[in-house]
Amino acid sequence: MKKSGIVAALLGLLCVFGSFSTFAADTAKVYWTTSGMFGPFDIRGLIPALPVEKSRQITIPVSMWIIDHPKGLVVFDTGNNVAIIDNCKGYWAPGNCDFLKPSQKREDVIDMQLKKLGYSADKVKVVVSSHSHLDHIGNIQMFPNAIHVLQKKELYQAWFPEKFQGRTSPGSFVMADIANAREFNYLELAGDYDLFGDGSIMIYSTPGHTQGHQSMKVKTGSSGTIIISQDAVWMQENLDGYPAGLNYSVQDYSASVNRLKMMRDLEGAQLFMAHDGEQYAAKGGRWYK
Ligand SMILES: [Zn+2]
Repeated sequence: MKKSGIVAALLGLLCVFGSFSTFAADTAKVYWTTSGMFGPFDIRGLIPALPVEKSRQITIPVSMWIIDHPKGLVVFDTGNNVAIIDNCKGYWAPGNCDFLKPSQKREDVIDMQLKKLGYSADKVKVVVSSHSHLDHIGNIQMFPNAIHVLQKKELYQAWFPEKFQGRTSPGSFVMADIANAREFNYLELAGDYDLFGDGSIMIYSTPGHTQGHQSMKVKTGSSGTIIISQDAVWMQENLDGYPAGLNYSVQDYSASVNRLKMMRDLEGAQLFMAHDGEQYAAKGGRWYK
């Protein structure tokens, strides 16, 4: 009887410690930062469906996310390539520099943003790229040792984009961003994925903007559940029903916007968008723990 009592006590302790470790592994903390800003320019340059009376000048973030999980450090999107700081028109097509007006400084680039928060780029375990446009995959080559998570379709599209989406200049795909990344370790997805197997960081296939666009959902502690749409939803006007002006498939895009909206409403989550100036001003540049 005594022996079984000790066993029961030990089992009880195991349960307590087990639940603590389960709690820790089930949440992550998220920092929202930006690879400089784009703009100012007329919002109708991005959302041509918007009526003229809603026209206004906007300055928008180039959102990147640093996620600290007990099983490893994750970066979601790597912003604009570092080279555009000194040579935008040489690195990007001149038209992109003229229209987007990137403000990126050296300290805005993802390696410096990690450093600012006390991390080094070589400690990043996973780089998730929402898609392969110039403002999202720009610096994946800074992470040669990470596991890179992309939808398989997006990898195909990255190396041979649809012509109407700008295969040649001034396109949104910049071959130099990925030219030396072909031999990286890719986790090639065909749909949704639970990154660490504990439900804390979910990757969702949200095609439309590009063929293989993907979004993320992170469970934090007291900040609750955060849906990071990236370019599945650029900004509030897209939630209001005005579609983005750059899409591989408007039908897929609309389904992805609706999926994320309903996920937000069902789960009581916050939805953070890639390029919403007002939302970033109110909620960016901080940790969600
Ligand atoms: Zn973008």
